[in-house]
Amino acid sequence: MQRRQATLKEKLSEHYRKRDFKAKKQTASTAGVVFFLCMLVTLVLEGLVVLLPRYYTSDDGSMASGYRLSQLLAVWLFLATAANWYNTYYDVANRVTKEMKAAHYPSSSETPPGWKNCPLCMLDAPPRSHHCSLCNYCILKRDHHCFVTGSCVGYHNQRTFVVFCIYTLISTTWAAFLQISYLNQDLPISTYWASFYFPLAGLWQYLAGAVPFLNFFILVHLCCTLVSFGLVVFFLFWQLVIIARGQTSFEAWKQISIYRRRAVLNNFQDVFGQLTNFLLCLVVPLRLPMPADGIKWVIEPKEEKGH
Ligand SMILES: [Zn+2]
Ligand SMILES: [Zn+2]
Repeated sequence: MQRRQATLKEKLSEHYRKRDFKAKKQTASTAGVVFFLCMLVTLVLEGLVVLLPRYYTSDDGSMASGYRLSQLLAVWLFLATAANWYNTYYDVANRVTKEMKAAHYPSSSETPPGWKNCPLCMLDAPPRSHHCSLCNYCILKRDHHCFVTGSCVGYHNQRTFVVFCIYTLISTTWAAFLQISYLNQDLPISTYWASFYFPLAGLWQYLAGAVPFLNFFILVHLCCTLVSFGLVVFFLFWQLVIIARGQTSFEAWKQISIYRRRAVLNNFQDVFGQLTNFLLCLVVPLRLPMPADGIKWVIEPKEEKGH
């Protein structure tokens, strides 16, 4: 029996059916996590071993006051950033489970009003939750998938994500300042060495033997630090804007307004809880309970109490 030869159209549709788009995105997610962890470890080591000793060394060779304190600060920034990264990464509480519906609608087999049935995880998902094709879960009040933590930012970890951004912002600002100070001592930016600060020119000068490897390494590291700084400024600013508006990134993109008449302070409390809780999370990387469960939402109430 002779098999029919597949047409080009059939071959193409078969190719796209089999192609795994998910794997590519997961590779991007893994690359983001690896980049962040490498930056975190190398920055603290570079700071403690190279940048801080140079910055605090006086002309007579002794260490200026504040050296020990700056070392402690560098270690604390490293630990706080790593802990908040982990708290964002560990997002199990965000995942929609079938128990959530059972707890709120024990006797209903239908999809509750305002909820939707997810065709991918085959579960009824609460309002404001969305499916993440990378995590392969529906996520409570899903904001976005973070490629740096390799997890979704949703109801239970948005607060730690913002705190993580704050620590990353402080760390990258300080690191960039120390890196520029270090390079400026060896290769003053106001002289003909200014060209070194352009990465390709810096590479050329290193290959020509005009500058040592450590200086070129710190230049490359400085570029990575500035990229991280730019990204974290964008994300922190965007998070504060959408939190003030009571939206998620998805809702902002789709121009969905959940709360049009609510005070900004209430929108902030939805994400950060009471001020004392937020301040505590800011100082100590705790996983404090959120003000609600992220399942029930009163979306744009039509009837106010007493009316
Ligand atoms: Zn789903
Ligand atoms: Zn995700």
